Amino acid sequence: MLPTLHSAIRRNLLRWYKNNKRDLPWRGTRDPYAVWISETMLQQTQVNTVIPYYEKFMSRFPGVDELARAPLPKVLRLWSGLGYYRRAENLRQAAQQIVRLHDGEIPRDFAQLRALAGIGDYTAGALLSIAFGKPYPAIDGNARRVLGRVLRITSEPALRAAAEELISRSQPGEFNQALMDLGATICTPKNQRCADCPINSLCASRSRPHAPSTLGSRRPLTFKNVVWPLAIVRHRGKILLRRRATNGLLAGLWELPGNELNGKQSLAALFGNELKGAQLSFTRPEKLGEIRHAITHRRIWAPVYLLDLTGNSRARVPLAGWRWIAPENLQELATSSMTVKALAIFSNHEKNLR
Ligand code: SF4
Repeated sequence: MLPTLHSAIRRNLLRWYKNNKRDLPWRGTRDPYAVWISETMLQQTQVNTVIPYYEKFMSRFPGVDELARAPLPKVLRLWSGLGYYRRAENLRQAAQQIVRLHDGEIPRDFAQLRALAGIGDYTAGALLSIAFGKPYPAIDGNARRVLGRVLRITSEPALRAAAEELISRSQPGEFNQALMDLGATICTPKNQRCADCPINSLCASRSRPHAPSTLGSRRPLTFKNVVWPLAIVRHRGKILLRRRATNGLLAGLWELPGNELNGKQSLAALFGNELKGAQLSFTRPEKLGEIRHAITHRRIWAPVYLLDLTGNSRARVPLAGWRWIAPENLQELATSSMTVKALAIFSNHEKNLR
């Protein structure tokens, strides 16, 4: 790449970023802990969704020590609804590693950062550039798409090499964030606004409407469509939740009983199986609504049903790891995102009855 092209791209991007950067709560700080938490939350999650979670998390766990000492259920509870819970577990585990191996200081070294739980090339690059001012690229989906288009690069190694060459030595954090912001606001996946773009005169894909981004995402995801009925079992103002196993998908979270419906299995058979051992009898399920959700590679359609215990049932907790809880106390528990959505339908249903 020509040095003059480099410097023109850097200059235009940095100038544009100075005047147009998004106003986000983590933008005002170079505190490595704040950068780490925000960058982790932003993976796979929209900025607007992240903001309230970030603010709550930072006020409850303001530093590495507090996070390292926190019991996992408390961390998961604050994460409840944000999805991809492995991120929260890794944050806590990495905080413990930082306390144990680095005296509580987030390391400034790429290899040491990469050795921490949950920190990949992107997060390490974001931390080093934004918090410590070191010239490491941080290539997220937005930066990958912008660079792929501007330079018409089609391979990951070539993209990485170009990013390392291109990054600003004096303002690496601003440069990385400028690429991310440009990809999020102007050079978007489907409708790039080349006329408003600060590097349009330098871009190899300029004004090619819908020019395909060769590197917008690493690989196309294939989804499996599933039907996953959920049961809100109610008794005397409380509902029944169960806790998932402490390993595997959504480990340790509380959820409504339900499962993937197999083949011709009936709803009654599914709920009967899910509540096996409960020795409870219910009214006929009343459908309250439905939600759409995605977990890993599953696209889930989840109809939500209300079941009341019939008079003769003894509402004892069926098995270890289950509990009755009043809806107003749900914030005590870390619940899965699907459960949060289903309970919002339940709450609307209750309000409409009043
Ligand atoms: S000129 Fe168009 S394609 Fe090129 S970086 Fe800007 S918005 Fe993207």
